[in-house]
Amino acid sequence: EQSSQDDESGFHSIIGDGEKPTGQGTRMEFQAETRMLLDIVAKSLYSEKEVFIRELISNSSDALEKVRYFNLTGKSLESPDRALEIHIGTDKVAKTLTVQDTGVGMTREELVDNLGTIARSGSKAFLEELKKGSVDPGTIIGQFGVGFYSTFMIAEKVEVYTRASGSPGYLWTSDGTGTYEVGEAENVQLGTKIVARLKPDSLEFADEDRIKEVIRKYSNFVGNPIFLNGKQV
Ligand code: ADP
Ligand code: MG
Repeated sequence: EQSSQDDESGFHSIIGDGEKPTGQGTRMEFQAETRMLLDIVAKSLYSEKEVFIRELISNSSDALEKVRYFNLTGKSLESPDRALEIHIGTDKVAKTLTVQDTGVGMTREELVDNLGTIARSGSKAFLEELKKGSVDPGTIIGQFGVGFYSTFMIAEKVEVYTRASGSPGYLWTSDGTGTYEVGEAENVQLGTKIVARLKPDSLEFADEDRIKEVIRKYSNFVGNPIFLNGKQV
């Protein structure tokens, strides 16, 4: 059940906090290449850390497009008529930034394959460049983009709640050093919710005005509505 709220001031939020892991997750190791990439990303002095928001929004957008595509091609989904939206929440007290979508979500297998290994071409090219040596990792993070992993530039811990149609919900967590944990969770809404627990040097991303600025800078052409703390951006 989505906890959509609408009121007269136009406040509309689906970001809830009712998810609950059911038992202990399984600890798993990142693929060696992913570990290497994460290590570089987490320690990077790259100054435009804000690009991680572009990456998260673009992943959410892709996930929403997949729902549209499945609907068009007659694949049966739970709640096919749900609103296709991206919700971003900032919390200065909790020191978190949350990006949630109502997209396709991920099964357990997809979580492990997509967030535990490097499939994307950009990240592969990034590693190839690095192997050549004498290149500044910062510059090439910007050039190639490192997708989801760029979140570890600003987060000391990342939590991913996700649920695909017909599948249980899951919680994936990692601090970006070597391993991640994945396990089932209750009350996970269809789609994906990513909670970035911010590093002490990245608390600016818990600031609503700062995030609004970054969303406007990078995500002008996103075809799906984006809400920031319940207000459409
Ligand atoms: P890319 O977007 O180039 O594939 P990313 O590192 O950004 O690479 O994301 C890796 C994969 O993780 C995506 O291809 C997708 O399968 C999965 N993924 C990431 N974010 C989401 C999301 N919000 N919803 C569903 N799947 C996602
Ligand atoms: Mg991506």
